[in-house]
Amino acid sequence: MNTVIEIKEYGARIGGGCFGFIAGPCSVESAGQIHRIAARVKAAGASFLRGGAFKPRTSPYGFQGLGAEGIELLVQAGREQGLAVVSEIMDIRTIDLFEGVDILQVGARNTQNYDLLRELGRTHKPILLKRGIAGTIKELLLSAEYIMASGNQQVILCERGIRTFDGGYTRNTLDLSAVPVLKELTHLPVIVDPSHATGRASLVEPMALAAAACGADGLMIEVHDDPGKALSDGHQSLTPGQFERLVGRVRAVREALK
Ligand code: PEP
Ligand code: MN
Repeated sequence: MNTVIEIKEYGARIGGGCFGFIAGPCSVESAGQIHRIAARVKAAGASFLRGGAFKPRTSPYGFQGLGAEGIELLVQAGREQGLAVVSEIMDIRTIDLFEGVDILQVGARNTQNYDLLRELGRTHKPILLKRGIAGTIKELLLSAEYIMASGNQQVILCERGIRTFDGGYTRNTLDLSAVPVLKELTHLPVIVDPSHATGRASLVEPMALAAAACGADGLMIEVHDDPGKALSDGHQSLTPGQFERLVGRVRAVREALK
């Protein structure tokens, strides 16, 4: 039996034939920003709102996120729009702040933080586990095992691209073969994040369509209402209009393959 991740209050589902759209900004920046984006992605067909509050930035001088306030704003925006919310947790000591968050994300930089994974295995919330920056498929599966062996079976796997030698045109190499491989090996839902995988807004839709075609159970897409002014990852963020188009085209691909 395939695992289905469901947030009942919102009828939000991923897995077992249900395709879930997780959308929202890289970082929660302000109340206005997250509320505007939440309304637009909901209208476009998303059932999950993402937004980082604790950001794992490569540079310690980059915007680090709004922290506790960011979580609060994200949860409010999600409740207002009837969207389940997803946010990244980096440190188990902040777990109490995530009470209103429906799905806890483990980012690529923490995929092999085994103490964090074990602790998250003791929680009762679904975990969205990203593939490590240079992580193998086996390493991803074993990281999922850390969570499940501690008692939490609700894990979503996310392919988000792996470190590439190119670097000039794409941020990472999106390994779409990971999708059918993981689906052969596990019963867990597998989603794709083409935003972090490519690093460029123009590449997000084509890769999202390919992800849907090769059997992904959902997509995580960065959306910002003013990408040029985003405090993080503006280059790879879609506008709400571009996201709406993507949803329509992904649905068409899924329909064609039925
Ligand atoms: C994110 O989704 O906000 C993020 C930081 O992604 P990743 O961990 O895949 O780099
Ligand atoms: Mn980002």
